[in-house]
Amino acid sequence: MSCVSCATLTPGLLDLDEARQRLLAAARPLAASETCPLDAALGRILAAPVHARLAMPGADNSAMDGYALRLVDLDTHPDGLPVIQRIPAGCAPAPLAEGSCARIFTGAPIPPGADCVIPQERCRLDARGRMHVHGEALLGANIRRRGEEYGEGAALLPAGQRLDAPALALLASQGIVEVEVTARLRVALISTGDELVEPGTPLAPGQLYNSNRVMLRALLQPQNCEIVDLGTIADTASALREALSQARDCADVVICTGGVSAGEEDHVRPVLAELGELHFHGVAMKPGKPFAFGHLHRAGGDVPLLGLPGNPVASLVTWQVLGQAFVQACQGRRPRPLQQLPVKAGFSRRAPQGRCELLRVVLDRHEHEPVARLAGGQGSAMLGAACQADGYLMVPGDMPILEGNAYAFLPVAQFAV
Ligand code: AMP
Ligand code: MG
Repeated sequence: MSCVSCATLTPGLLDLDEARQRLLAAARPLAASETCPLDAALGRILAAPVHARLAMPGADNSAMDGYALRLVDLDTHPDGLPVIQRIPAGCAPAPLAEGSCARIFTGAPIPPGADCVIPQERCRLDARGRMHVHGEALLGANIRRRGEEYGEGAALLPAGQRLDAPALALLASQGIVEVEVTARLRVALISTGDELVEPGTPLAPGQLYNSNRVMLRALLQPQNCEIVDLGTIADTASALREALSQARDCADVVICTGGVSAGEEDHVRPVLAELGELHFHGVAMKPGKPFAFGHLHRAGGDVPLLGLPGNPVASLVTWQVLGQAFVQACQGRRPRPLQQLPVKAGFSRRAPQGRCELLRVVLDRHEHEPVARLAGGQGSAMLGAACQADGYLMVPGDMPILEGNAYAFLPVAQFAV
């Protein structure tokens, strides 16, 4: 689902999809890797594929608490089967003698000779201790076969996989204690703006608390980057030049906020053009139009720079739909395409000209169907609605939003990791 058709784009602005594609095409995955203990690998990215050392399951085993037996013995022993073995999980069973059965528990190995497990709910022991079965018994029932999930050598996880809880569990189930992961991406963070002060400091007239800094740190943290926080930089070309030079020398990616529009106090673009190259500036989206992307020249390899808008919601949204995918690609991940689902608008509204709008919305249920409602004020500095939103309703530019029509909904949950 494209954001806007080219025909409706404001000249000079890139379509969101195209901006994303250009970013991903420019991303160079870090080559360095390191060995990491499994216990410390949460959120890290696999540098190489992992193959199975062990088949899973490693042996035929019981899927239920019950009795293991030979199916044919049920017909030939109508007066019941003596229980001659007890097999809890973790023990090695003896072969099952003909005409007998074994008490067995979930996960315990099937004794050689047995060909089905009857759940205990369907078994009855008579006064002589012989076991009788109610209902039908099927060959192979309730037996998990050796290698039924995968065999030795099977591809388990690809390079670029982020190690989340199930992936760590899969590695642990193979007895793996350490993994080769990509090096942590060093991301330099720069806030620009003479008006910005840190929370904890009294505000002088005209000043504003720096909220982008803590937000971007929080957004980068689950990406497992090493954050190099260069603080707040004054709105002068020389201060920015110095900060970007420092960032270039100590980071793999530079992210700055503010100062990226076309005003006299906006120095990011001219200084970037001086120290490197601006690839594009301006995306046909609201919020987020001033987003810029370029490279700072450095001997031994240029360093990419993401210029996020200063307005907090614009900063948030451009990080989510553009910056995050770029950073992930630099970590060796293959970013997922933006997840978009059709959802009906529960309101009507005018759309901005020449730009698609990502409205912060909450999903309500009407007659079992999700319907989007505005989460609050939609200004690009209004963080309140962003805090409440379930996602963004993406509406093409130049078209009024009509209640009852379906638009692309981008759940914010997709940006969690
Ligand atoms: P700019 O892109 O620098 O023109 O900033 C646009 C708006 O965002 C201005 O109102 C700034 O005061 C505000 N802004 C810029 N940076 C930040 C920040 N780090 N935290 C909060 N607001 C900011
Ligand atoms: Mg500024």
